[in-house]
Amino acid sequence: MRNFTGNFTQQTALPEASITAVNAVLATGRLHRYNLAEGEVGEVAQLEIDYRDWQGSAYCLAVTSGGQALQIAMRACGISTDDVVLTNAFTLAPVPGAIAAVGAQPLLVETDENLRIDLDDLKQKAIQSRARYLLLSHMRGHLCDMDRLMHICDEHGITVIEDCAHTMGAMWNGKRSGNFGHVACFSTQTYKHMNSGEGGLLTTNDPQLMVRATILSGSYMLYDRHGAGPDVADFYDARLDMPNLSARMDAVRAAMLRPQLAVLNANIDAWNARYAACAGALAKVDGLHLPERPKAEQMVGSSIQFRAPSLDAKECRALLAMAGARGVELKWFGAHEPVGFTSTHGSWRYMPNQSLPRTDAIMASLFDMRLPLSFAVHECQFIGELIGDAFRGAKS
Ligand SMILES: *Cc1c(COP(=O)(O)O)cnc(C)c1O
Repeated sequence: MRNFTGNFTQQTALPEASITAVNAVLATGRLHRYNLAEGEVGEVAQLEIDYRDWQGSAYCLAVTSGGQALQIAMRACGISTDDVVLTNAFTLAPVPGAIAAVGAQPLLVETDENLRIDLDDLKQKAIQSRARYLLLSHMRGHLCDMDRLMHICDEHGITVIEDCAHTMGAMWNGKRSGNFGHVACFSTQTYKHMNSGEGGLLTTNDPQLMVRATILSGSYMLYDRHGAGPDVADFYDARLDMPNLSARMDAVRAAMLRPQLAVLNANIDAWNARYAACAGALAKVDGLHLPERPKAEQMVGSSIQFRAPSLDAKECRALLAMAGARGVELKWFGAHEPVGFTSTHGSWRYMPNQSLPRTDAIMASLFDMRLPLSFAVHECQFIGELIGDAFRGAKS
């Protein structure tokens, strides 16, 4: 019985060009984004220009993390302590964490069996709560019907903030995720689609929002050297209205990201090949449910999820253990205590407890796994086969 021996947290090396660019920045000693020589467009501003052009948005702001991008985006939208913010019940901790950080009231929306936000529940809660904001998390890369979502939100006067931590590069009907809402947030933390250790990007078409976000990110009134922002005159009011949250990206991280953007499309293809190989093996296992991937969705398969609804909690734990024994590190969303990133809404005690029976039922048998590019395509198929073995073992 062969086991899988790969490492689930091993990234691929950064491109040579990243290493060269980082060394060049280090040699200057000018690491702070506003510490620029005369006439110099620093690495951070250049990253903002590159990402803005790649994304197809009018503006991009680079910050310290995806979570900070979310907080800045919410504040820049005017969200404060009295506001209710609708958001996915199925998401990762930085999302409710960002809502808590701005002091707003999260209202969690149910999850459908394809792991997307439940649009019927969204509509109902929008009407009942009269919330004016939705922080939409494209959790694990599953895009909901974005046309219907935007229709619901437009109808109810809801401003949409997109959390694209898992959908950098994904599209719905040919339109990039992040270009539907008023503002979008991306993460360049190690486990996302570009890797600078920590980092975040915020995009929007609204110059006034970008002005507020820039001041919030901590521009020290040096926005005239920002390089890629709105006109300096646009800053006149916001510069005194917005607090400095000190969340700037530095030149080292920007330098390592720019060459990664150049290979992002190739990496997306590589992830999708791995996803297809693993999903192909899982689809052959009776009793395992893969989320459906609609035609309109151009996905980025950097992770894979499946449900095993016929298993009870004890059997789910057995599946986890058996897969683990064969070298396959799965995450399970049904545990009572958060393990790694798999926290569920019940363990967010800083917010009022909310009843989400559909989400709970789905998460009870939901498994999740990253597909690092350090795995070969055939290894991803093998992993799928090993999961099938573990499922059959857990059942009997
Ligand atoms: C990673 C992540 C973020 C932001 O993460 P940071 O670690 O703060 O960069 C936001 N939302 C989701 C769903 C994430 O997985």
